[in-house]
Amino acid sequence: MEKKILVVDDEDYQRELMQKLLSKLGYNVSVVESAEAAFSLLERERFPVIITDLIMLEMDGLEFCQKIRESDDKTVVIALTGHADLYEPEKIRAAGFDDHLSKPFRIETIKQALIDGFEVFQRRVKT
Ligand SMILES: [Mg+2]
Repeated sequence: MEKKILVVDDEDYQRELMQKLLSKLGYNVSVVESAEAAFSLLERERFPVIITDLIMLEMDGLEFCQKIRESDDKTVVIALTGHADLYEPEKIRAAGFDDHLSKPFRIETIKQALIDGFEVFQRRVKT
């Protein structure tokens, strides 16, 4: 399986950081600055794992994930936020997220979340 990850974040710094970090971990990373940009990319490309910021202008991460779930229950979608307190865990789960990480995060945490995420995706596409 291709180790492709899509990162959605409206902050330049955060996109650069994720691009560097996840590439170092051996993943093939694409980054976009908005949910809208993500959807246009998703029309052409499939990603087993998507990591998205929650607080973004226009469409926020919750709405983004809900929209993905309307047609896709296989992709693993992980929320990444620096304001975990603004979003109740139940709300994040209810939006259809598989996992939730807070910024700043430990490299080990994201490493494990991605290993788990790709395993979950693989199980989902098999069944
Ligand atoms: Mg943001």
